[in-house]
Amino acid sequence: MKTVYTAADPIMAGFIEGVLQNAGIQAHAMQAGLYGAAGEIPPNECWARVVVVHENQAEQARAVIKEYLEAEADPQAKAWKCPRCGEQIEGQFTQCWSCGYER
Ligand SMILES: [Zn+2]
Repeated sequence: MKTVYTAADPIMAGFIEGVLQNAGIQAHAMQAGLYGAAGEIPPNECWARVVVVHENQAEQARAVIKEYLEAEADPQAKAWKCPRCGEQIEGQFTQCWSCGYER
């Protein structure tokens, strides 16, 4: 298995899982944070992740995810969600105020 996507928001990971499965890629969203209380482990370990079952589909999966996220990020859209940290950002901003991610 290979991780192709990480999200601070487990719901987002669930979306991505569905998108990949619709594209015919065997993918599973894995919820992290099961290993002890938050704060005891690095933030990355708390993130949900999406893995593909077949490593040779990882590249295809990443392309599908990118396409999906770009479609979501309509420049004129009202609010958008930072795919890196999961913050809700107002439509007029192109950069996440929280983590600096550029959509
Ligand atoms: Zn962010």
